[in-house]
Amino acid sequence: MQIKSGDTVKVIRGKDRGKSGKVVQAFPRQGLLSIEGVNLSVKHLRARKAGERGQKVQFPAPMPACKVLVVCPQCGKPTRIGVVRAESGVRERKCKHCQATFR
Ligand SMILES: [Zn+2]
Repeated sequence: MQIKSGDTVKVIRGKDRGKSGKVVQAFPRQGLLSIEGVNLSVKHLRARKAGERGQKVQFPAPMPACKVLVVCPQCGKPTRIGVVRAESGVRERKCKHCQATFR
């Protein structure tokens, strides 16, 4: 998967199409991402003690990574990502628009 946590991404499919946010957590094995403010779900928590109220907690549910594009840190556009080797052999990602490379 070419997206990791900390990346800014833009959603291109589904109910949150057009939204963008930062990746909170990535699940490379499942190809899923949790993104800040995107695909929000509500978790209902029961009261644990007597007299305590149950709570609704809102959290970004994981969604398929194929439905987002990485926003290039260089040119600011949502873009497809290529993978290239730097001279030192380090794996770097490349913006298909402006050809800028980043980790
Ligand atoms: Zn770019």
